[in-house]
Amino acid sequence: MRREELVMICTSDIAGQLRGKAVPVRDFEKRREVGVGWTPTNIMITAHGPIAPSPWGSREDLYLRPVPATAVRLAVDADGPVQHFVLSDIMRLDGNPWECCLRDFLKRGLAALEAEGFGLVASFEHEFALQGVEERPNSPYNLDAFRRQGPFAEVFTAAMREAGLEPDTFMPEYGPSQYEVTMRHAPGLVAADRAIMLREVARGVADRLGFRATFTPLLRPDAVGNGVHVHFSLTDRAGSPVNHDPQGPAGLSPTAAAFLEGIRRKLPALCALTAASTISYLRLVPHRWSASYTNVGVRDREAAVRICPVFRPGTEETALHFEYRAADAAASPYLVLGGLVWAGVWGLRQKLDAPPLTTSDPEEMSERERAALDLRRLPTSLADALSELEKDAELAAAMGETLHRVYLAHKRFEDELMAPLDPAERCASYALAY
Ligand code: GLU
Ligand code: MG
Repeated sequence: MRREELVMICTSDIAGQLRGKAVPVRDFEKRREVGVGWTPTNIMITAHGPIAPSPWGSREDLYLRPVPATAVRLAVDADGPVQHFVLSDIMRLDGNPWECCLRDFLKRGLAALEAEGFGLVASFEHEFALQGVEERPNSPYNLDAFRRQGPFAEVFTAAMREAGLEPDTFMPEYGPSQYEVTMRHAPGLVAADRAIMLREVARGVADRLGFRATFTPLLRPDAVGNGVHVHFSLTDRAGSPVNHDPQGPAGLSPTAAAFLEGIRRKLPALCALTAASTISYLRLVPHRWSASYTNVGVRDREAAVRICPVFRPGTEETALHFEYRAADAAASPYLVLGGLVWAGVWGLRQKLDAPPLTTSDPEEMSERERAALDLRRLPTSLADALSELEKDAELAAAMGETLHRVYLAHKRFEDELMAPLDPAERCASYALAY
């Protein structure tokens, strides 16, 4: 019998999972407008399976309306199954976006930024473990570790290109069997869509080649973290960068300075959105090359926000950009970028002054030195981050009352679910989920 190809219409949810329903490809045109039916309570399904207490229960209906430009069709081997999916917006039956649609949270943030006169381009840099690759201690950046992933990198690169993801670099990262992939920057919404697509392309290719790609924040308590580093740059409405001013501190324009200070001040609450698992906080500790203080650091890979280097003198106008490092793949890219944009917009509206910049390790500073630079330790647990998010009036308003409330309820339930497990067991549970 000939197989019939399906396309899965998916949504990226609070659990950072991609869920949806598949329809025969031949019906896709018909589904473009009507989409597929969806249940509000689905957003309360945790990454580990159990459903957090839902205000909707078994009631009410929504639909997933596909965004055709995000379609990915992955046919790794001639005879194997075609993996075909498309991202979507979650719509109410009256045709308006659902108040808990995460893609809409980002869209609204970008519209608020646009109203201030600016745009944003971004690229998500991903680290992940390729399970099935032999772990050897010589792995970091090693040609031999590159070789050990066999045909994965080549097939993955081809699949990314075919999906329109504009592959940039691929490398063996520091951890044994850990790899990193980067792609070209794109306008904010496209960048977040692409981050979701990239993870599934990696998982799909790995699956067909006999590996498993996991983007879990931490494979084991002693492992090297899998970070998601969000590179971003502000532009004017026409798309020209507006980050640089030779007179500004570290070359920051007043616009970039206010935007970054908005993010910096909101960092404790933002962590709840960007480091959204209980094990994310085992990664966000000093000297793991992730982030652990509320700092904007000049060319420092342990800063929560890093001012990246400009490699060719004279290109500052176009090349100066920033990297948010306190994120991981347990979070939906829509919440990560949406949170950053909303925090930055708040900074712009408040006309905040430039952030205090760090050029040395906050962990090595005295309490007084840290206080002088207004450096706070990032939350050390998901529960603490959620408390920060709960009391942050601006982020609450940006999310909207319902999304803010259900997000807290979902993540607190996840925290309770993980509480009986020791760190190793938690890591194992998240490794299966991501
Ligand atoms: N693995 C580190 C992290 O958890 C990042 C290492 C690096 O690329 O600088 O974020
Ligand atoms: Mg890296």
